[in-house]
Amino acid sequence: MLEKYRDEILSCTGCGFCKKLCPLYHLTKKEVDGPKGKIMIAYGLLTGEIKEDNSIIEALQKTPLCRICETTCPSLIKITDIIKAARHDLKKLLPAHEKLIEELQSINEKPEGEKVIFAGMQAKEIGAIKKISSLIDASPYYGGCGAAIERVGRKNNIIEKILQNFREAGVKEIIFYECDCMKFFSHDFKVSHIFDELKKFNLNYIGGRYIYHEPPELSYLGIDGRSIIKKIGEIVEFDSPKCCGGRIEFERAFPDEAKMLAKDLIKEAKNKNATIVTASPECYAHLKKYGNIIDMLELVERAMD
Ligand code: SF4
Repeated sequence: MLEKYRDEILSCTGCGFCKKLCPLYHLTKKEVDGPKGKIMIAYGLLTGEIKEDNSIIEALQKTPLCRICETTCPSLIKITDIIKAARHDLKKLLPAHEKLIEELQSINEKPEGEKVIFAGMQAKEIGAIKKISSLIDASPYYGGCGAAIERVGRKNNIIEKILQNFREAGVKEIIFYECDCMKFFSHDFKVSHIFDELKKFNLNYIGGRYIYHEPPELSYLGIDGRSIIKKIGEIVEFDSPKCCGGRIEFERAFPDEAKMLAKDLIKEAKNKNATIVTASPECYAHLKKYGNIIDMLELVERAMD
């Protein structure tokens, strides 16, 4: 699969601008943890100058794929796609990822009803999902979609069964909160993002100072959450884009680095006297272990009439 990105890889000038905002590189200061280091590894694997070994596998897997690096690359290199392609070509996975795939394959959650909120397997602790589901006449779904399997570089071999479960249940419309799953369903079902529903509610200004932790997929897809927060309270911004390290496959394989990234966010929010608002069940499940945060749906529930 790396071969497909040959021209893209050869277009990298090695300038290193992609490290400028990389949250992991800034914490560890290791070249191999930054995007440029990973592009160099991909180049070495492509040309045969380096061979796969445990250190190469670890280096390629050690990123939550937050895409922040792509915003500062002057050559517009598709860094995330190259890393994913390099992972796909690896013969071996990390033991933590093999275990995670087994776990994902064993989930047997079934959807119910014609209209479903796809909340994801880490969303059960977000109580507001149930209330919002009932308000829009939908039922929550707490299963997965196999996106993590694809992200670690293997074929998503559970999605066909999941799609079949949705068809058999008579689902017609899916409203996503776990937005990395949306792409798998868009051919067969009517899909939208839950923020479209939240924007229809009458929300009261309840005050408070909030800092929005925007998941990479939402900024990539241009799905806006800030306008919802602004109806409810004051919004402040991080000094630069941040990643919390909460991607399940990253957190499982690199818990220390995931913790460092989370604490970095919490520290900046505290310095700004603001409460972090998450917009992804994955980020919420991770960040709540380290500090005072609130999920977007919980915030909306508090501000409802
Ligand atoms: S990926 Fe882009 S920013 Fe990074 S070294 Fe290559 S050209 Fe420079």
